Amino acid sequence: MEAYFDNNATTKIDPQVVEAMLPYLLETYGNPNSTHTIGQKAKVAVDEAREIIASYLNCLPVEVLFTSSATESNNWALKGVAEALASKGKHIITTNVEHSSIEKTAKHLEELGYDVTYLPVSETGHISLKQVEDAIRDDTILISIQYANSETGAIMPIRDIGKLCRKKGIIFHSDATQGIKYLDMNVETQKVDLMTFAAHKINGPKAIGCLYIKKKTPIVQLIDGGQQEFNLRAGTENVPYIVGFGKAVAILKDVREERLAYVKHLRDMFEEQLQKNIPDILLNGGEPRMPNLSSIAFLGIPSDTFLARLDMEGIYASAGSACTSGSIQVSGVLKAMRFAYERAVSTIRFSFSHENTEEEIQYAIRTITAIARSIREISSQR
Ligand SMILES: *Cc1c(COP(=O)(O)O)cnc(C)c1O
Repeated sequence: MEAYFDNNATTKIDPQVVEAMLPYLLETYGNPNSTHTIGQKAKVAVDEAREIIASYLNCLPVEVLFTSSATESNNWALKGVAEALASKGKHIITTNVEHSSIEKTAKHLEELGYDVTYLPVSETGHISLKQVEDAIRDDTILISIQYANSETGAIMPIRDIGKLCRKKGIIFHSDATQGIKYLDMNVETQKVDLMTFAAHKINGPKAIGCLYIKKKTPIVQLIDGGQQEFNLRAGTENVPYIVGFGKAVAILKDVREERLAYVKHLRDMFEEQLQKNIPDILLNGGEPRMPNLSSIAFLGIPSDTFLARLDMEGIYASAGSACTSGSIQVSGVLKAMRFAYERAVSTIRFSFSHENTEEEIQYAIRTITAIARSIREISSQR
């Protein structure tokens, strides 16, 4: 049996998405910037995908900008706004648990003379509105705070922060690459000026991203060149992937609530059983958190050993984020939550999806319980 529990790293593409993309790979290969028929057909497809996403976000199509990834969107949001507002101020606020594409971009801006405040999260992985409020200065130009954390599932108070930013006239960006799966993406209610997300976390193709940019937000281009994307992001549009992105969002629209309830049911069953079966395990994080996420410390068992054993049994999970796996470094997010070393190095992240079945969960519970017992037995005999 195989059980894929690494859906926060990426998801399996939906066959309906592939089907929607194929004609734009095989037949309608024109450049949307060309004026002939085959080019214009490609343009129509891009426009349609943009409209689907705009309607999902409750914004205008011109506010939906396609990029190569969530990584590019995050780079663009921070660098673009920072450059556009440099004469107004140079202070930026973010958190100490952002994705590397925010963290490294913020560090880069520090090298260019910007001043960045990294708000520390609580032991459950959250930040509070009060922390944001207290960090705001006269020269604060931009606040960038993720919607939901990929490692702990912590959901941040985006709407309240957005409201505060509107009141103070500060630009607000949120990395919603995880949030999009289960949370409200209405940009009006969430009060964001910029919002990042990507297709491959919602069963779309990899390497296609989006940046929502509210009209009149001061921002400069990251990618210079042609006049694509309303003269804001150069380069020939990735037509088939944009079509796939649109399809993935169109599907999500109808099933988000249903998927949320289902994955939460699987996750709760998983956590409840494991807690009954295995002593000395700790659940990481706390509410509010994403319904598909379970971060568990199996005390005394190094996560790399555990993951290798799980992999042999066809169970695919991760330690920390995908970007930090493969190295023995302790996850920056768990460090930020001030976890003891022992807890951090024994933590495994299981991220479920609507495609997982109860059978898979039961199989995983049995297997994880058996592996944990056998590893602990071996180490206690030493
Ligand atoms: C996956 C992810 C990203 C980066 O996505 P890419 O497709 O690798 O660019 C950014 N932020 C969050 C919160 C993510 O989960």
